[in-house]
Amino acid sequence: MLIDTHCHLDDAAFQDDLDAVIARAQSQGVAWILDPSTTVATSERALSLAHQYDCVYAAVGLHPEDCADAEPEDFARIAELAADPKVLAIGEIGLDYHWDDNPPKAHQKDVFARQLEMAGELNLPVIIHDRDAHGDAVDLVKSKSFSRDAGGVFHCYSGSVETAKILLDLGFYLGFDGPITFKNNKKSPEVVAYAPLDRLLIETDSPYMAPVPHRGKRNEPAFVSDIAAKMAEIKNLPLEKILETTQANAEALFKRKDGDA
Ligand SMILES: [Zn+2]
Ligand SMILES: [Zn+2]
Repeated sequence: MLIDTHCHLDDAAFQDDLDAVIARAQSQGVAWILDPSTTVATSERALSLAHQYDCVYAAVGLHPEDCADAEPEDFARIAELAADPKVLAIGEIGLDYHWDDNPPKAHQKDVFARQLEMAGELNLPVIIHDRDAHGDAVDLVKSKSFSRDAGGVFHCYSGSVETAKILLDLGFYLGFDGPITFKNNKKSPEVVAYAPLDRLLIETDSPYMAPVPHRGKRNEPAFVSDIAAKMAEIKNLPLEKILETTQANAEALFKRKDGDA
């Protein structure tokens, strides 16, 4: 069985054929899908999909790239949505310094810190997006005001082995997706090889970053099987072992209240 721990089913790319996308994922053995959010509006949409489909769960939160206009009431609304039993995490939250200072770094850090605190108060795990911001992201998750008891994942992990070691020591999981299958990517497979299997999660980040052999097309949750296969190859372990362990990892971090596993 597979679990896609990061899949934007609420994205407009899926609005015309969502039933078929979910059916294809299920026929590939995907047991459940976690839909992380980027704004208040997508948090509401992800949660409504979670109510519509048994196999879909939501995470709610404000993404660093979309946080420029975050208002105080947005944080209250996220906390309110997080009370729903189908919400498994706060996310995706974090820092994205790819576009220089846009939104301003100080603002991104403030929005991230507030949501880390919120997750601690609600005792929910966090899904962290960290692009080109590894130093500041590590500093913030180490901060005293954030309780790490509920755990978290650095999704689409793109940092070094050295940073991975710090995050693993802090108790975080690392999530991997399409980029580990890309020929020119040497760094992520190194981290996959290094990290213990019981701290890895697999995800697609659909509709973005489709894995080989679908690269360049719309990504979808059925393709999480390609990530699992690549992970088995990198770790030189049977696919069955990868599926079993990553499923147990996902169930341990994201505690489904209606889960039967
Ligand atoms: Zn992300
Ligand atoms: Zn994402």
